[in-house]
Amino acid sequence: MKQCPKCSKEVDKDMVICPFCGEPLLNTNKKNFELLNIHLVRFLMLISIVLPFVGAIVSIAMKKNYPVFSKVLLKNSMYGFIIWVMIILLVLICYLAMFSMGVGYM
Ligand SMILES: [Zn+2]
Repeated sequence: MKQCPKCSKEVDKDMVICPFCGEPLLNTNKKNFELLNIHLVRFLMLISIVLPFVGAIVSIAMKKNYPVFSKVLLKNSMYGFIIWVMIILLVLICYLAMFSMGVGYM
């Protein structure tokens, strides 16, 4: 017997799909590793999407009291934004490549 990762009910170890909630049970280490990677990529994407904007907002907010710091921060936020656009393009290319090879699920 093994446990369903989604609903925690006991299911037969040969089961491919959980009979209670329909969760796929092919959770080998490889699948867990892939899931971890996908979560990591999503997390990194989220951070890289948010950070340049946060930097720009903080920079504008501090412009009056800390003009030099504000300028440097804004400049770095711009770089962050450029890198962000490049990452998005790269992810899109990888995504399309994965799909064309039939691996795609994300
Ligand atoms: Zn289940």
